[in-house]
Amino acid sequence: MKKLMENFNFQEKVLLSNYTTIKVGGFAEYFSRPNNKDEFINLIKWAHSNNQECRIIGAGSNMLINNIFLKGLMICTKNMKSIKITSNTGIVEAEAGVMLPTMSNLLAKNGLQGGEWTVGIPGTVGGAIYMNAGSGNLSLAKNLLSVQVIDTKTLEIYEIEKKDINFEYRFSPFQYNNLMILSSKLFFEPKGNIEQLLETTKKNLKKKTETQPYHLPSFGSVFKNPNNNYAGKLIEELGLKGLKIGDAEISTMHGNFIVNNSSANSKDILDLITVIQQKVLQKKGIFLQPEVRMIGFDYP
Ligand SMILES: Cc1cc2nc3c(=O)[nH]c(=O)nc-3n(C[C@H](O)[C@H](O)[C@H](O)COP(=O)(O)OP(=O)(O)OC[C@H]3O[C@@H](n4cnc5c(N)ncnc54)[C@H](O)[C@@H]3O)c2cc1C
Repeated sequence: MKKLMENFNFQEKVLLSNYTTIKVGGFAEYFSRPNNKDEFINLIKWAHSNNQECRIIGAGSNMLINNIFLKGLMICTKNMKSIKITSNTGIVEAEAGVMLPTMSNLLAKNGLQGGEWTVGIPGTVGGAIYMNAGSGNLSLAKNLLSVQVIDTKTLEIYEIEKKDINFEYRFSPFQYNNLMILSSKLFFEPKGNIEQLLETTKKNLKKKTETQPYHLPSFGSVFKNPNNNYAGKLIEELGLKGLKIGDAEISTMHGNFIVNNSSANSKDILDLITVIQQKVLQKKGIFLQPEVRMIGFDYP
């Protein structure tokens, strides 16, 4: 650990596979885990004044990071985990690094309804807003009131109301603008039955772990579902489950998951993604758009 500036620490040449759920990823030139918003803001300011590219990783549960040396700073938000729940109003204030399963359990314990489905998503609140994470018809955007952001170009810090954010299926404008998410305000229906909420939360987690390969490294659904169809179903219909490239395998449990059996690298995974896309396009005439974010590739 090298101290480059007062008040916060960087590590150099950090292996990012330790920070992604698929256990794949190259090295970050600089890496830092701020403990709160102020430290995060200082890091963004440092990157800005030193002309360093700055990237964010939350829980790394929706990222394919190339096995290369990534120049610049990678900020991991997982230590920014302050959360304030006001039981009687249903207002929740969560820093970007709060984990969804932690929040889901806390909501249930406080009698707040509407977050039971988030328990099985191993990502952070910041990552979930950026991805507009969801399940069925539900998505975190539905519960969002506002987001506090920092503009990495102007260093301006401000709040954006949900009505001014154009969320779509697994899409938010944060995927192409210069804004990093610091924290969020959410609303969940207060005064629910705590026992029932805890029970539903538990059941939801059980259902996820029974139908998806939670026991192996993955990054959740690889592709977005095309209109009126399911990526997993299309992949399964073509008999692709179990197909392997190196140690990367299309899960035998769920067609839209790629798992890392042990030492898969980013090329194995990208090649498998490409094979799936080609086969589904040839046989079904549908182009599967990845949901997973590709970092360090020449990928749109
Ligand atoms: C087993 C498993 C099950 C899953 N199930 C679901 C599911 O049911 N539904 C679903 O929608 N997803 C699911 N996912 C995918 C994933 O968990 C979600 O997309 C999650 O919201 C990503 O959060 P993260 O913190 O891991 O983001 P990361 O993977 O760390 O980052 C994703 C993107 O968000 C950006 N980002 C992260 N934090 C910030 C921030 N603070 N400011 C700006 N940009 C930021 C990153 O730069 C990156 O581009 C699953 C994944 C796994 C492994």
